[in-house]
This record gives sequence, structure tokens and C-alpha cells, in this order.
Amino acid sequence: MKKRVFSGARPTARQHIGNLLGAIDNYVKLQQEYDCVYCIVDIHSLTTLQDTHKIQENINDLALDWLAAGLDPQKSIIFVQSHVPEVTELQTYLGMMTPLSWLLRVPTFKEKAKAQPDNINYGLVGYPVLMTADIVLYKAEVIPVGEDQLPHIELAREIVRRFNIKFGETFPEPVGKLTSFPTVPSLTGKSKMSKSEEGSTIDIAHTPEETSARIMTAVTDPERKFRKDPGHPEICNVYTLHKYFTPAEVENIGVECRKAGIGCVDCKKLLAKNMNLALVPIRARRAEFAARPGYVKEVLDDGAKRARVIAQATMQEVRQKMGLR
Ligand code: SF4
Repeated sequence: MKKRVFSGARPTARQHIGNLLGAIDNYVKLQQEYDCVYCIVDIHSLTTLQDTHKIQENINDLALDWLAAGLDPQKSIIFVQSHVPEVTELQTYLGMMTPLSWLLRVPTFKEKAKAQPDNINYGLVGYPVLMTADIVLYKAEVIPVGEDQLPHIELAREIVRRFNIKFGETFPEPVGKLTSFPTVPSLTGKSKMSKSEEGSTIDIAHTPEETSARIMTAVTDPERKFRKDPGHPEICNVYTLHKYFTPAEVENIGVECRKAGIGCVDCKKLLAKNMNLALVPIRARRAEFAARPGYVKEVLDDGAKRARVIAQATMQEVRQKMGLR
């Protein structure tokens, strides 16, 4: 029997190139080897999302991005977290055995509390408990993560151990599958591409014209002020993006940049051309799925139905072991 993978993404914005190269491409590959459960974690998004009127649109966009990139609803379960309400029941039970001190020491809680000091809500503190419930409700064993998420997996394992010791072996201890996610740089020159930073991303759903326009605004080598100045590709975000989209020519671009043989405008035009070319099939599939009336809803409804079968069986076992019925 194949091991089960679980992963989720918050529907707070459309997916961008960083998500595609970092996570989604990996999700697509995992479908060959594992029984995959991919969840649009709308409840999680409420911990930071204050304005919820766009949440359904975001869910639709995220599902389209995933499907366009190659997530296959025949192979994987693709669904929305809140469509399987058993997860919040399990979160409540797991919360009863999770010491508050464990949650307060989680690095992402500290970061978020700092970022939104006026909204340090109960859900924010309990985020890792809900995340554990997400994973163990489906008895998932393998969780694709970046290094920064390992503390969450460790916490999930501790909660699982507690439950299993107290009520008998019920859940497998999830294991983080470290993936060498490439860090896709932000167009603004600050750290990595992120939906929380305005103007830093290129979305999968952008048109070729929008993509080109965004690339033309990208920050390059700050020391290269004039066309005649030799550049430093190693500190240029456009150059890093060429590594993914122009691999065959990247070495030569570096050489030409260093001797001012190529200007930044031409270099960006080449990147835009190659990125748009690479995205042609994904964007075509996205447009095709978007044009099919009711298709996304159909996929998500079917995913929730299949996820619920697993969730209900798990909850029956959990309630029985806890003596609740
Ligand atoms: Fe960056 Fe290309 Fe300009 Fe060199 S030529 S600084 S690699 S954009």
C-alpha cells in the first residue's frame, strides 16, 4: 500500500512562480509514488486574513493553479479544509492534550505575533494543533516541507505521541520530507518571492504581457548604474530567474553581464520570453479549466467526499478510544 502524503496551501492569493517551482512541481511528482491529499486550508487563512469577502475567489484561483500545473484529481484528493468539518472536532480533542507552552515556543507564532500585534488571536496560537489535525485526520505519514516548517512537524509528532500513549496506537507519526525547494527571488530585490510583498511576484495566472511588464520592473544588480558598467550576476535576481527559465544560456549570460556585453533591458526581455514560453502549457490548461462551467466545484466536491470517508472513519476510532461514544 502506498504511503499517504498530506500538504496544504492557504487561499490568500493566487499562486506565483515561487510556489510553482518550490512546492507545486513537487506535489505533481509525488503523485507518482504516494497516495496524495492536497488541501486548500481556508480555515488556516482566517488567522491572518481579516477581510474574507474574496476567500471563495481565492479558493477557485488556487484550485485552478494547482490543476493547471498538473495536480490530477484522478490520482490525488484535492479539497477544501472546511468542507470536511471533522477536522475542527479533532483539533479540539488534540488541543486538550497540547500544553500551551509548546505552542508559544513555535517560531512562526512568534513571527506572526510580531507582524500583527493587534490581532494575536486564539487561532494563531492553536495553528499547529489544527495543522496536526489536518495531517492525522487522514493518517498521513509523509509531509513535504521546507526546512523552516520542520518545527511544526516535530510538534505534530509530539502531539501524536501523547495521543497514542494515552489512548492507544491510533495515528502514525508524520515525517517531514525535506525538499530542496529552490528559493525563487522576489522581483523587488528583497528576499524570496512572496504573496505578502506587493509587486514581488509573477502569478501563474498573469498574462504574458503582465509577466513581461513585471519583469521589466525587476530590481537587478544595484551597482550597475549604466549600460557600460560591468554587472555582478551573482547578486542579480533576474540572473537567478534565468537559472530556471534559461538554463542552457545562463552561463553565457553571466559572462556577458560581467563584461557589460549585455544590457539589463535585453537580459530582462530574454527572461520574459523564456518564462512566458515555459508557462504556455500551464496557462493554456488554466484557461481551459476556467472556461468549463462548474469544473472546479466538481473537483473540490468530489475531493471533499473522498476525504470525508477517511475522516469519518478516523473520527469514529478517535471518539471510541477517547470514550466519547
Ligand atoms: Fe542582471 Fe542581466 Fe543586468 Fe546582468 S545584465 S545585472 S544578469 S539583469
